[in-house]
Parts: sequence; structure tokens; C-alpha cells
Amino acid sequence: MGGDQFARSKILRRELPETLREEPIYVPARMINEVLYCERLMYLEWVQGEFAHNRFTVDGTAVHRNVDKESSGLAASEELPEEGAAQSVWLSSERLGITAKIDLVEIVGDEVLVIEYKRGKAPKVKEGAYLPERAQLAAQVLLLKEHGYRVKGAAIYYAEQRQRIPIEVDEELFDVARGAAARAKELWRNGELPPPLDDSPKCFGCSLIGICLPDETGYLRRESQPSDGIRRLHPARDDKLPVYVQEAGARIGVSGELLHITSRAGERTEVKIPLTSEVSVFGPVQMSMQAIHRLLEREIPLMLFSSGGWYRGRIVGAESKNVELRLAQYARFNDETFATKLASGFVTSKIFNARTMLRRNHSEPDETALKEMKRLARSATECSSKERLLGIEGAAARLYFSNFAGMLKKQDEELPFRFDGRNRRPPRDPVNALLSFVYAILVKDMNIACMRAGLDPLIGFYHRPRFGRPSLALDLMEEFRPIVADSTVIQLINNGIVGPDDFLVTASSVAIKGPARRKVVLAYEQRLDQLITHPVFGYRINYRRVFEVQARLLSRHILGEIDSYPQFRTR
Ligand code: SF4
Repeated sequence: MGGDQFARSKILRRELPETLREEPIYVPARMINEVLYCERLMYLEWVQGEFAHNRFTVDGTAVHRNVDKESSGLAASEELPEEGAAQSVWLSSERLGITAKIDLVEIVGDEVLVIEYKRGKAPKVKEGAYLPERAQLAAQVLLLKEHGYRVKGAAIYYAEQRQRIPIEVDEELFDVARGAAARAKELWRNGELPPPLDDSPKCFGCSLIGICLPDETGYLRRESQPSDGIRRLHPARDDKLPVYVQEAGARIGVSGELLHITSRAGERTEVKIPLTSEVSVFGPVQMSMQAIHRLLEREIPLMLFSSGGWYRGRIVGAESKNVELRLAQYARFNDETFATKLASGFVTSKIFNARTMLRRNHSEPDETALKEMKRLARSATECSSKERLLGIEGAAARLYFSNFAGMLKKQDEELPFRFDGRNRRPPRDPVNALLSFVYAILVKDMNIACMRAGLDPLIGFYHRPRFGRPSLALDLMEEFRPIVADSTVIQLINNGIVGPDDFLVTASSVAIKGPARRKVVLAYEQRLDQLITHPVFGYRINYRRVFEVQARLLSRHILGEIDSYPQFRTR
């Protein structure tokens, strides 16, 4: 195998625990395809267990549905009938170190034909398919030969053109397949996460693009931007949307791919499960076990809140398989220098973003306060002690919230709500009730972003771990508190979306009434859907996607692939 094909200069090496370095006996033939297409893709999928669908993989799954059934059984080589076929034939060889599920094996006399199913059309290349696909097929032929079959030929069936294209499999291709299998094992054994491809068109079709973040990671590793900027290869917005069920007494059921939400008054709403990103349930809502199972099957998180908006917990499907990342996160947690540097970044960005909010929205920004916040942000950048950071953050927060009321618009010469600073548990005025509620939803979203990135939301670097406290989600949300949560609250008040009648006031606390909570959630979701320019990468993206990108980049930093976490700071 050519040295160029597997350039090793920029590969990241890390110490993995012994158990993770033990490579499996067999390399799946699909990984032979992937390691030739992109070593990083192979590593992310096979070693780290990452997976995501895109339209190509969904198409591919549909194409394989016809052949990906229970194996129909292939007779032993010495007992082959005159003719026939077997689908989904699973073969392995310890000597070759390869395993494969062969889509279709046709029997022709005393020989067999191997057919691999692929989505789309055959590429316009004289070999009939690209090298990775041909090598995958060669691995299947090798396996059949190893099991004593005489192989007459091999072909790829392209579903879109409904045509079988014969592929020549020769010694040279066998060598490529064997070499690729050896390389895949080597990467596993050494714990080598290969760097992303550089400015490659291959990334456009890659389902792991949102996990790999090739241009972003490449840029942060090199610290030089490609001449034509960083490509946003993943969508700016998700096509899936969150569902909130807030009415006490509502019921959630399921049929097929639909969730049925029935209000106490019997009004029924249907939600398409494939278009749902998560379901948040507030207070006493009934949910059928079937509906819970369906969400778990589809890996849609179910987030549970009290009636008052306190985050209670979550029910999620299979946890991320990326053990390597989890172990790295736990190791980094004990690395005081690493943790403090990260914490300092979170606090610095939070102060800068809070200052930006005052600069943009305050009717008469107090220059002294702005200057002091800038000074505090700089101190946070240089701070090497978490205890001192807490002090700096507290001082900045006091300054910010003492100026917060200046961002609220007066109505008839008067502020709609009085605000004398932050209070909570329970909030004692409407503005604090709104802030607490929106922060709780933001924590929920950061929790989900952590889980999607394969991080443990409970193990943070700035917020100290406590039983059940989502410390990492709280860390990650710091930089977004002012620009997402506070901004939502200011919009709600300044645009008159909420008024004094929307709150339940008692002697000791203030709560948002049920119908008003719906308006708050809507305003928050609108804020998340807003397209903004990413301050580091310069492309347009909405906040909801930003959360996931930031969590994924944090995981890259934890794994040591990039030197620092790119802070999200608006200007
Ligand atoms: S996005 Fe590009 S670099 Fe990343 S895994 Fe996919 S093909 Fe490889």
C-alpha cells in the first residue's frame, strides 16, 4: 500500500487503556471500504462507535433492506446445488482477520458470483466502481475462497440504475484489501485518530460530517484559514424540532411514526417522530410506555421538568459508544491546569458576551461599568485559579445585573417590571422568574448537546460536580447565558409578549403562569432558530446547531486533537 495513501505525519497519538487497544479479531469488510475512503471516518465509526445518518446512508439502508434479512444460508462449498442464491451471507476468517455480510451469493454450477448492493448509480470510471468499493468486494471474494468456494466473478448492483456492473477482482486488489484491513487494525491498536481530510470533496457525502467537523478541526489544528474560508459542510439548521408538553393532565401516546398529544380538554395534536429532536415534558403529563419505547428506539431524548420548570432528569436511548472520549473526559477532569484553562475561557466569554449585551441594548450604557467588565474579562483570561475565577465571575455578574434594568424598555414612562438584581430559588419577581425558567431550558439543551457529542454532562471543569448536577452542561452554557437566555427575556418584555398578568405572585415567590410559559418557550425557540455568524468560523448557523458544534469541539479538545476550545464570543 502506497505511503501517500496513508500519510502518517499528522496523526494524533494518545495513550489508550490496554483494553481499548486490543483490536478485534475481525475487520468488517465495510471498514476496508472506509479506511480507503477516509481513515478518520473508519476510526470514528469503528473504533469510537460514532454513527449518524445522512440521505446517502438512509438510501443505502433502504437498498439493503431487500437483501439484509436473516441469512438465507449458503450450502457448504462441497454441497452446492446446481443453481440458487443466498442473501445476507455472513462469513469470517481468523486467518484473514476479516468478516463480511455478503449481500447476495448466486450459485452457477460449481461456482459462485458475489453481488454487493449499493445506492445510486455506477460512477463513470473504467473499473466500474471506486477503489474502496472494489476493495470491499475483494474482501468478500477472499472470504468465499477461504471457505472453499470457487468464485466465478463479482459485481456491484447499483439500485438507482437497477444495473449490475461486473468488477474485476485480481491479486492486486486482494493486496489492497488485505493492506487496508491491516491498516484499520493498526489504527485501532495505536489509538490513532487520523486528522480530517484537507479541503476534500469527499466530505460532502460523508454522514459523519457534523461529528468530524473537518474544516473547523483542520482550521483549529493549523490556525490558518483556507483561502476561500471555512466551509459549513453541515446544515445551518436542523430539520428536526423540539416538542414541549406543558399542560398538566395532557396525555402522550404513539401510533406508528406519530406521537399523539391530547390536552385535558380532549384536543389532539400529532407530531411526526422522525422530525422530532427531543421531547420536554413539564409536570404531571401522562405518557404511554409505548411512546417512551418509541422515543428510546429513535434515540430521541425525553427531558423531564417539574411544573415550575425545574429540570428533573432525562430518559435517553443507548448512550454514546465513545468510551475513549468518556475516559479522556474523566482524565481531563483531574488535570487541574486543563480544567482551569477551560474554566477561564468559559468565564471570559460569558463576561464579554454580557458586556456586549449591555453595549447593544442598554438605553444609556454606563462606560465605567463597561470598562470594568472588560477589565474583569481580561483578569479571567489570565486567571489560573478556579477560586479566583468564581470571584471574578461574581463581580462581573453583579455589575451586569445592576445595569440589566437599563436594557428593558419603559412603557408609559415606567418600566413594566421592577428589577433590582438577580434572585432565585425561588425567584421573587417576574424578571427573575423569566430568567430562571429560560436558564433551565438552556441547561436542558446543553445537556442534550453534551450527550450528542458523547460527553458526560455530569462531569464539568468549572462547575464542581455534585450529585445529579449537569456540571458540564452548566459550563458550556456560560457563554450563551447572556446572548441566548437573557436576550430572550429582554425580547419578551420589550416586545410586550409578557405582562404583569402572566405571573402568579405570592408573598415569597413569583412563578410564570402556564399559558405564558408557552410564549416564553416560543420566544426562546425563535432565538435558537436565529441565524448568526459564527465568530470563529465565519459561516451562518443557528444557535441550536452552534450548541452541538461547540460541544463537539470541546470533545476534540478533550481528546487532545485541538489545543484549545474555541470560545463563542459575539462582537
Ligand atoms: S467529514 Fe471528511 S474528513 Fe471527516 S470523516 Fe468524513 S470524509 Fe473523513
